[in-house]
Amino acid sequence: MSMDEDLERVLWTADEIAARIAELAKQISDEFRRVRSPIVVVGVATGAFLFLADLVRQITLPVAVDFIRAESYGSGTRSNGAPVITFDVKLDISGKHIILVEDIVDTGNTLLCLIAHLKSKGAQSVSVCTLLDKQARRTVHFELFGEGKFYSGFECPDYFVVGYGLDFAELYRNLPYIGVLKPEKYS
Ligand code: 5GP
Ligand code: MG
Ligand code: MG
Repeated sequence: MSMDEDLERVLWTADEIAARIAELAKQISDEFRRVRSPIVVVGVATGAFLFLADLVRQITLPVAVDFIRAESYGSGTRSNGAPVITFDVKLDISGKHIILVEDIVDTGNTLLCLIAHLKSKGAQSVSVCTLLDKQARRTVHFELFGEGKFYSGFECPDYFVVGYGLDFAELYRNLPYIGVLKPEKYS
């Protein structure tokens, strides 16, 4: 019962992921250095848990950490439309600079929903840091605000990928690398 055998190929190794995260953390640390109000890193559960853990350990500024959950997927490989927030941030984010940390941006629906939500709670700005960006599948346009920035680790080809936080039916999140799941595993 090896997880590795369920993958068609590896897209990014653990070393490649770590190297890219070091670059992102440096960029974020540089660009947020002059920000006066507090920074809150908000991870989108569950997929962003490993990425967030590795990213914040290399950010050299004081940051608070919180989580939010938005669900639209179920256990399939395609989004079923408008996401619903099923778990909200605990911290008071009013007046704070938010860095929303995502595993992957696909259609953009989740970000559209989360950014509007954080804005309505009084955030001063919302930036997004996603490990993967599946740009080819974008169907909605989301707007960052308050000089929010968009950080992306890797451009992701249009395959269903798993590993390093990303799941299929809640499995494969603990793979240390990211790869393409064999279609027979989900069809
Ligand atoms: P969006 O709302 O942008 O369509 O979808 C975002 C969410 O869909 C991601 O946070 C992730 O949970 C899920 N998702 C989209 N593409 C993939 C993929 O290739 N693999 C996995 N495991 N999840 C995906
Ligand atoms: Mg996600
Ligand atoms: Mg999922």
